[in-house]
Amino acid sequence: MRLSDLTTLRLGGPAARYLEADTEEAVVEAVAASDRAGEPLLVLAGGSNVVVADEGFPGAVVRIATRGVAHEGATLEVAAGEPWDPLVADCVARGLAGVECLAGIPGSVGATPIQNVGAYGQEVAETIRAVRVLDRADGTIHALEPADCGFTYRSSAFKREPGRWVVLAVRFALEASERSAPIRYPELARALGVEVGARAPSADVRAAVLALRRGKGMVLDPDDADTVSAGSFFTNPVLDADAFAALQARAAQRLGPDGRPPAWPQGDRGVKTSAAWLIERAGFRRGYGNPDGIAISAKHTLALTNRGAGTTAELVALAREIADGVHEAFGVALVPEPVFVGHAWASDAGVA
Ligand SMILES: Cc1cc2nc3c(=O)[nH]c(=O)nc-3n(C[C@H](O)[C@H](O)[C@H](O)COP(=O)(O)OP(=O)(O)OC[C@H]3O[C@@H](n4cnc5c(N)ncnc54)[C@H](O)[C@@H]3O)c2cc1C
Repeated sequence: MRLSDLTTLRLGGPAARYLEADTEEAVVEAVAASDRAGEPLLVLAGGSNVVVADEGFPGAVVRIATRGVAHEGATLEVAAGEPWDPLVADCVARGLAGVECLAGIPGSVGATPIQNVGAYGQEVAETIRAVRVLDRADGTIHALEPADCGFTYRSSAFKREPGRWVVLAVRFALEASERSAPIRYPELARALGVEVGARAPSADVRAAVLALRRGKGMVLDPDDADTVSAGSFFTNPVLDADAFAALQARAAQRLGPDGRPPAWPQGDRGVKTSAAWLIERAGFRRGYGNPDGIAISAKHTLALTNRGAGTTAELVALAREIADGVHEAFGVALVPEPVFVGHAWASDAGVA
């Protein structure tokens, strides 16, 4: 099995061994068997957040294909292999609010806690009540509470300790309401014609999010080459006060009065700024790259796309060129968002 057939980037060499597990028991047994054999293991679901090496993966790839949604009022217990976007559509249709801004994100439910998926002012951590996991360290199954999941911006305990946890199911507590959670994202509020902080019908919010995302090539579409990506390739940097002041000084020196980097204060965690702003101001334009291979999306500076004949080596080379360019221009180290499989990220700007 070539992993390029299972990834949204359509990149990645062969798996030494491949199997699909469509029940929780099959997942647990497949993982245990691989651990007993001492072979490397990759748990894969929708393949929308991985950058797999051209050489492939020298071990077992277990694809999570479990299904099932159990409803109990506004609480849902969902099998890891359920596709995420149809679940959001179903919640909105049932009058359950809290995930409507996360419409259009590809991949599985079980992967959502891994990087605490987020978009348009909402994060999945806000509605997760428990994550049922297999702990590969001792083979036990637990229900982890949110405090144990270590959710942060685009990360979690699961992402920080790769390979230890296999997510089996996720429990969500939503709000029984036809109206959305308060809208926090100015671009979305504008599209809906409401103030930031207001609520709107969840169905309208979902539709507005999907329209905004399509405009950026952020909804998978076989007819749109800009969607052959892993979504945003870099996270937005979160800088401490001194580092942000240094960035402001560098940007003003380089760009003059236009050199004001976006700032979203994150309390005592510092200031979040925009990776797309840094990349554009460092001189990288939409569409930059190889029109037949790897190029920046024509719709969104943060997405690296495979135009058909790309390779992972070419993707990593372009990502490094961008990260090094941003570091040289602004002294900020960009960190990739997707998970690297069979190879590691490194750039002159630092190792993630
Ligand atoms: C067009 C596009 C738009 C995107 N937009 C967004 C966005 O707006 N916001 C956002 O946060 N992300 C976004 N993403 C990234 C991606 O869709 C999410 O991270 C998604 O949750 C990944 O799900 P997946 O099932 O495809 O995971 P995979 O790519 O299969 O796996 C990703 C990682 O999670 C691990 N993993 C997967 N399932 C499990 C499991 N059950 N147990 C343990 N580990 C597991 C894998 O080992 C791997 O390390 C986007 C991607 C694309 C292609």
